[in-house]
Amino acid sequence: MKNNITYDLLIIGGGISACVFASKYLENNNTKKIALIEVGRGLGGRSSTRISKRFNGWKLNHGSPNLNIMNKKNNLLLKSYVNELLEKKFIKIDDSELVFLEDKSNLEAIKKSEFTCGFNYLSLYSMSQLSQNIIESNFRGKIDFYFETLIVDLKFNNDVWTLKSINGDKFISKYLICSTNLLLHKRSLKILKINQIPLRKAIPENEDRKIDLLLNYLGKQLFIPRLTFLIYTNENYGYKDFYSKKNRYFYLNKNLENKYKFERVIFQLQDNNKLGIVVHTKNIDFINSYINAKDEDYFKQKIFANFNELFDGNSSVNKLSSNEKISIMKWRASQPSGSAVPLSLQLSQKYRIGFCGDWFEGEGFGRIEGSILSALMLVKKFQD
Ligand SMILES: Cc1cc2nc3c(=O)[nH]c(=O)nc-3n(C[C@H](O)[C@H](O)[C@H](O)COP(=O)(O)OP(=O)(O)OC[C@H]3O[C@@H](n4cnc5c(N)ncnc54)[C@H](O)[C@@H]3O)c2cc1C
Repeated sequence: MKNNITYDLLIIGGGISACVFASKYLENNNTKKIALIEVGRGLGGRSSTRISKRFNGWKLNHGSPNLNIMNKKNNLLLKSYVNELLEKKFIKIDDSELVFLEDKSNLEAIKKSEFTCGFNYLSLYSMSQLSQNIIESNFRGKIDFYFETLIVDLKFNNDVWTLKSINGDKFISKYLICSTNLLLHKRSLKILKINQIPLRKAIPENEDRKIDLLLNYLGKQLFIPRLTFLIYTNENYGYKDFYSKKNRYFYLNKNLENKYKFERVIFQLQDNNKLGIVVHTKNIDFINSYINAKDEDYFKQKIFANFNELFDGNSSVNKLSSNEKISIMKWRASQPSGSAVPLSLQLSQKYRIGFCGDWFEGEGFGRIEGSILSALMLVKKFQD
């Protein structure tokens, strides 16, 4: 058992939803003993920043580069939380240039994508730092963090949760929050090499209608795989024109996406003034061709070739030379799609378990907006 501590609350996952939940929950429960368990090396999850070990000094947001809030229903919880983040100077309005590429090198008037609708905000530092700021803002030292710890098994006996990690560590707690749905979804069977979905194993069928419904909805939930290519440009690489803002976004229309396999290309200015480029793709054939590629270098050259053809003649973007450095991030599940889980299933009092994340219903489904909103709503349900 980890340090012989029985926690009041354990949170699985360290993405933005977990950080929002923890910070808001602690506001009214600051004597509670809380721990957060995350398989990665730090906070942020799918909204995190790659701090390269290989290429010194580079910090690239390799998942979500920023966040956009639509809040069409004017949810006051969400509205005031975004204002709080602005006041604390954790985020600012993202006024970076947003370009929609209509066809080769011709720039078109700005259009909207699901990631650009509403108000766009940028973390003042990096996306990982945003999660860190959120969770640490008022409560530094109040949470025990366990990083590089993968939970593989859940048990609920005598009103107590026992979690087991892949390394055999045990964690005990009165309440449990799952900010990831990995342990609730059938993909866990393959990923964790187990033979029963951990939540189903902990709570058998017909014991709690809410849990049964939640697992049913998740049974129909799919995920969009993505690759992101992180390009660490050479010292002398820069824009053709003068542009000094932190980010610059190029979105491709469907035709161009089909042709070049890129969804968007995001330029990220580094503290040392070098230009990092993050190329996103969710083209399944392209992803499979990467997985099957025997020669990774050949694949990387293909990315440079596509990039150079896409931006050929563009008035801002220079071509890449074949010796720019590149690394690749494979996201098995970048965003949920298909069936979203109703927010009414977020909390089971009987089993002292709550859920948050971008996999809940609403206009923020599959985006940071949904993650934040679901976390705020879960805190409220805990208080009521
Ligand atoms: C490439 C990419 C681009 C994106 N672009 C945008 C965008 O432009 N705008 C936008 O709004 N959204 C975007 N998204 C989606 C956005 O990143 C997510 O909606 C959001 O980050 C989800 O946050 P979360 O806290 O709900 O989940 P996550 O960030 O996934 O957090 C869950 C955490 O749980 C951890 N975990 C999982 N299982 C276990 C386990 N068994 N034990 C321990 N830890 C575990 C994971 O490592 C993860 O850190 C993008 C996502 C990707 C991948």
